[in-house]
Amino acid sequence: MRRISRRSFLKFTAGLGAAGSLLPLRGALARSPFAGFPAPSAAGSGGPIVVSTWKHGHPANDAAWRILAGGGAALDAVEAGVRVSEGDPGVNGVGYGGLPDEDCTVTLDASIMGPDYRAGAVAFIESYRHPISIARKVMETTDHVLIVGAGAEEFARKHGFEREELLTEAAREAWIKWKQRMSDTDDWFPKDLDHDTIGLVARDAAGDLAGACTTSGLAFKIHGRVGDSPIVGAGMYVDNEVGAAAATGKGEEVLKTCGSFLVVEFMRQGLSPRAACKKALERIVKKHAAKPAFQVAFIALSKEGEVGALSLQKDFQYAVAVDGKNELIDAEYLL
Ligand code: ASP
Repeated sequence: MRRISRRSFLKFTAGLGAAGSLLPLRGALARSPFAGFPAPSAAGSGGPIVVSTWKHGHPANDAAWRILAGGGAALDAVEAGVRVSEGDPGVNGVGYGGLPDEDCTVTLDASIMGPDYRAGAVAFIESYRHPISIARKVMETTDHVLIVGAGAEEFARKHGFEREELLTEAAREAWIKWKQRMSDTDDWFPKDLDHDTIGLVARDAAGDLAGACTTSGLAFKIHGRVGDSPIVGAGMYVDNEVGAAAATGKGEEVLKTCGSFLVVEFMRQGLSPRAACKKALERIVKKHAAKPAFQVAFIALSKEGEVGALSLQKDFQYAVAVDGKNELIDAEYLL
């Protein structure tokens, strides 16, 4: 079947015409004490652990760790952790400073899940810096899981969250550059931008698990596009009996495979976190006739405190905090 690119899809909607074998693991074990999978000091230690995506996961882990080290709950830790990325204008895929959509509007998605099988999420929300805290409010004050768009903004306003402009000067300039470079021959997606979503999963001293995931989504996406991050089971999932997982990368691929849920289900079947991430990525690869050029990565944490992570392409990093040490690790990759 012919794949429809974003550009040809737009043409199509404008009435102008429509536009397995498993691959060996590659490379890249990091210069890190945790590189052996599981993190040696984490496995079975019973203590707190934090795992998060990308290099900005490192300061996020610090914030989460401070809560866990003080005996705090995993749910509080994951929220506090990802709020660091949401508030950092230097992280261009999350919260304040996130890159806008094709209309130059910053729209955000976030989800959170606790050990008690409760979850909350918001999607396609504008003008609020900390969607993760709004997602938590959805979880704790309603019997809904997901609120989107204007409804989510209204919900946030009523709960006392403050509106603000999230588009930074740097993000606006990036949008202008992208506009100027747009061509008739590609899908408009910049090839030189990393994925940046923060997914963060944690276990507290009591052994309870929680997860959070927050993003501005794909840079220059179609206005209204929602990816995997706010969809419980896709961008993030927690089962307190088994483990927790989170995803980053091309959200459409994670959505179609219910990626984080799949990783947790593989752990339930007895796979290690790393093997579970690998099997979920292989599922994605198998659905494509050609070797995928897009990135998808998973992080996973088992109830027992084993950590795993894997990406399709190189250059994915994740951060692990355990025993008071916080390390950034170059992930192995599949393709
Ligand atoms: N998964 C995110 C999305 O598709 C993007 C990312 O990971 O940066 O919205």
